Amino acid sequence: MKLIEGDTPWDHLNTVEKSHYSPLEHKELCDVVVIGGGITGAITSYVLSEQGTDTILLEQGELGRGSSSANTGLLQFMNDEPLAQLIQTFGEQKGVSFYALCKKAVDRLADIAGSLPVDTEFRRRSSLYYASTEKDVHKIRNEYDTLNRYGFHVEYWDQQRIQASFPFSKPAALYCRHDAEVNPYKMLHGLINKATSQGLRVFEHSPVEKVDYSEKGVVIKTKSGIVNASTIIWATGYGTQEWKPDRLVSLDSTYAIMTEPVHDLSTWYEGALIWETNRPYLYMRTTPDHRIIAGGLDEPLTAADLTHQNITRKGHQLLQNVQALFPTLGQISISHAWAGVFATSKDGIPLIGRHPDYPLSYFIEGYGGNGTVYSMIAADLLAKAVTGKVPKELDWFSLDRLPFHP
Ligand SMILES: Cc1cc2nc3c(=O)[nH]c(=O)nc-3n(C[C@H](O)[C@H](O)[C@H](O)COP(=O)(O)OP(=O)(O)OC[C@H]3O[C@@H](n4cnc5c(N)ncnc54)[C@H](O)[C@@H]3O)c2cc1C
Repeated sequence: MKLIEGDTPWDHLNTVEKSHYSPLEHKELCDVVVIGGGITGAITSYVLSEQGTDTILLEQGELGRGSSSANTGLLQFMNDEPLAQLIQTFGEQKGVSFYALCKKAVDRLADIAGSLPVDTEFRRRSSLYYASTEKDVHKIRNEYDTLNRYGFHVEYWDQQRIQASFPFSKPAALYCRHDAEVNPYKMLHGLINKATSQGLRVFEHSPVEKVDYSEKGVVIKTKSGIVNASTIIWATGYGTQEWKPDRLVSLDSTYAIMTEPVHDLSTWYEGALIWETNRPYLYMRTTPDHRIIAGGLDEPLTAADLTHQNITRKGHQLLQNVQALFPTLGQISISHAWAGVFATSKDGIPLIGRHPDYPLSYFIEGYGGNGTVYSMIAADLLAKAVTGKVPKELDWFSLDRLPFHP
């Protein structure tokens, strides 16, 4: 499955020194093998190496060239599914605890980014979540009441308050001050660099081709090497759905653009992350070098998606959406436009845990708009699990949980 197409921005724009790792061409032994060198594999390897777990990371190509290269870098604790909806689906305790995990994960990412020797362009940001139409005002009001009732402090902004801060008008919004943005490429390479200094062994160009499971452990065969380990963590992203489809997962195509630097972004209040109640939603953010990133226009995935024609067409639509909200910005032009496959879970929470057909393995499927936040949650839970202290929260994210029927 082709996961991305078009002109993804991060590696073109970056000045960060990228380490290269040789392929595995011999036999290695370790406790945990992480398969997949995207942001999920990077966060997980980092956390494992930090706690002293002997870990090897295997990547079939180069680090960060999968879906992680398409990531637009928004880090939010509010989810594609509002808290009120999650409480309906899973009950109060689980819904609220899941939101608390997401909020904690954003804080964890902040701490980790702050400890890396590179500037990952991690910035604390507020989010404006606006009602796309009048009829969605009650959703905003309801979510405001729910979030505040459970201790997630957000502000309710009416039309006047929105107009006072932004050059556009919307009927209502939530303003949330707990979010962040990051340069996912710099974060990924910063994590891997530090993790290797903590003992992580990394092999690029080492596709895992076969795994033998036995009571003694796993034997992982790559194209030209072998690893013996106790546990595998599969961090193979959306591509996992090709060989282990999960009934709870649906696949869409999604689109994004980055603009050339904009002369004056002063009308963009607090550089806030912006998104909306419409589904699929439009979202946008700014970057430290004064560009705008916008994304959305998702559609159910078909074989004809991810074409250059669609990327150009949807890219212009995204630009028009930005211009409609910020007519004050004057002439803005696209520097990068790209598309990607995007997986979501049907009940709105990620899939993390074991699968009956793959012994001694854990899967991380942080599917949804908050993929990076979910990867952080998964890394912390699995880091405990591999030491034998299996956290109870792993039950919630079980890969074989039953689909929710409203
Ligand atoms: C356009 C777009 C915008 C997005 N914006 C955001 C955002 O703003 N915020 C956010 O949190 N999330 C966002 N996401 C989601 C985010 O990109 C994903 O959650 C994240 O990239 C998933 O990372 P991953 O490491 O799990 O997968 P990947 O980055 O795909 O990494 C998986 C890796 O596994 C490797 N692999 C696969 N099979 C094997 C094998 N057999 N052997 C060895 N290696 C293997 C692949 O080569 C790949 O490098 C966005 C996604 C898209 C498409």
